Amino acid sequence: MTELISKIELKKIHQIAQRTQQIAHKTDIFCSAILLQAWRRVYYIFNKREIYASLKKRQGSCLRCGRCCHASFKCQHLEYDENGLSLCKVYDRKPLMCSLYPYNANDYFFHLKPTCGYKYDHE
Ligand code: SF4
Ligand code: SF4
Repeated sequence: MTELISKIELKKIHQIAQRTQQIAHKTDIFCSAILLQAWRRVYYIFNKREIYASLKKRQGSCLRCGRCCHASFKCQHLEYDENGLSLCKVYDRKPLMCSLYPYNANDYFFHLKPTCGYKYDHE
């Protein structure tokens, strides 16, 4: 009986540990996304020429996964079509920062970099 109780307790502890790990991971992603969103705007202000030169080297294309549109908070303009591809409701007048993403090899939400359709030369 005591063995059964300790097994149940161990299972609970394991579940709590897993949940805590998941929350920590999500928090990490959220905070780093907010920081990148702030940083890339500041960087743009002081490095426009470098950014536009860098954009010429950008390869690939957007896969319309839409994940960069809810890297932190989900954008209110984000929708998905019947095939699950992202749709920007304000595509023709979307913010400059959206059009420029990713503007260099460092301008990625870290958790999205491996799956983004855009790549830079040296990667
Ligand atoms: S993460 Fe990359 S591929 Fe996905 S929507 Fe954003 S730019 Fe496009
Ligand atoms: S405005 Fe459009 S491109 Fe920019 S984050 Fe929102 S849905 Fe994505």
